[in-house]
Amino acid sequence: MDVRTQEFAAAANRELKNERSRNFLGRLAPYFARSCAGAMKTFPDPAAAVACGRAIRADAVARLPDLLEQFAKNALACGAKIIWAKTAAQANEFILALAKEKGVRYVAKGKSMVTEEMGLNEYLKTNGIDAFETDLGEFIIQLLRRPPFHIVGPAINLPVEEIRDLFLAHGVIDEPTTDRIALGGAARRYLRDKFRRLDMAVTGVNMAAADTGAIFNVENEGNIRLCKSSPAIQVSVMSLEKVVPTMNDALHLLRLLCRHCTGQKLSSYVSIDCGPKKPGDADGPEELYILILDNGRSEIYRDVKAREALRCIRCGACLSVCPVYGKIGGYPYGWVYSGPMGQVLNPLLLGREQTRDLYFATTLCGACRDVCPAGVDHPRLFLHYREQQASSVRAQGLFFKAWGRLVKSGGRWHFAVRLLRPLINRFAANGVIRKMPGLMNGWFASRNLPALAHKTFHKQWKKQERQRDAGRR
Ligand code: SF4
Repeated sequence: MDVRTQEFAAAANRELKNERSRNFLGRLAPYFARSCAGAMKTFPDPAAAVACGRAIRADAVARLPDLLEQFAKNALACGAKIIWAKTAAQANEFILALAKEKGVRYVAKGKSMVTEEMGLNEYLKTNGIDAFETDLGEFIIQLLRRPPFHIVGPAINLPVEEIRDLFLAHGVIDEPTTDRIALGGAARRYLRDKFRRLDMAVTGVNMAAADTGAIFNVENEGNIRLCKSSPAIQVSVMSLEKVVPTMNDALHLLRLLCRHCTGQKLSSYVSIDCGPKKPGDADGPEELYILILDNGRSEIYRDVKAREALRCIRCGACLSVCPVYGKIGGYPYGWVYSGPMGQVLNPLLLGREQTRDLYFATTLCGACRDVCPAGVDHPRLFLHYREQQASSVRAQGLFFKAWGRLVKSGGRWHFAVRLLRPLINRFAANGVIRKMPGLMNGWFASRNLPALAHKTFHKQWKKQERQRDAGRR
């Protein structure tokens, strides 16, 4: 998926004028508030349940390296194969190589943000393997080649007419219809046909329990369950922060996740898997690969202030209460993760430079922090990113202070110019200056610095004056 975070401001301005999206977004916050509050009431003590969830995530992130080791050991003992991938590229390469080795022509995908982060579908496609999203919303945005509008409902904002035209264009339906049930049924038949001849599936992981090596998936459509039970080869991709200490912890977080996600006490399907199919099992994969992806998370972990972002369990609640998301929707965020969750994660995963607008596009009202069942303090993180940004401004301040002292003294200035002139020419010639993005706000990233004359104007002027004087005498 293309990263378009740098286009945030322009895209947000465009979306502000999108009447349809705004009407939909206007109904989202009250709907979410009602459904989440209703579901939370089913806990005997909702506040204690949230506090417990936050404590579990804080503990899990604090002990992440140990828990990962424990999880990998137990999952291996269950018969799963553990693959560690440092980067998205490594993870993609592994899945492609596995598909080719097994002679697979296409893979089915269960909804998974992390595989979107990796750009897996595009990578497989360019290398000759088709990947079919099997979640209805994901299937629609895959055909549209758009990022998700909302983490829970990736295509929830689309008018039925657009889906009709899309399905017609891709042969999902033969006759035009705007009957939602007929469209859903057509997508179901189209995808079911893929499952019939399926050899390999790729899904995400909602939670992983270190004490047993079990992986958890929640869903409402049953497609992940089909992905995990039908093909012989199953790859479960998990970003490394998904691990929690125990089964009980995972189950408690699932209860919170579903309530904050769709307002359900529990989603329609919950799959808990320990290793591949065992003798006597009715279904399940013959080979289960658990691919644990880092992709910059170890680096995030090293920043003790920023590592709190790893607590996120991707429930999407912060999107639904955010006054900024509530006006512009998910597209302007320009990548997989949108809303406050994206504003927190994208700068860490993509770098502060190209995501600067994201952590400034906030009212700091704290609604995201208050609703978050994982205990992510978004406003504090936004301020942390801004502080880091300001440190580079402070560095610029020091530079200009030194510069001021230099230009105030004629002697110092001439000495520095004599010293730096050949150096600047050399850096310009070998492209070092072009690669310094912070220099003059990236002015030279797309412009060449012409070579400086061998002698300064001042020197040339003096020389000419001397020659003129000599000529007069
Ligand atoms: S940051 Fe919190 S509220 Fe937002 S998606 Fe993650 S867990 Fe949910």
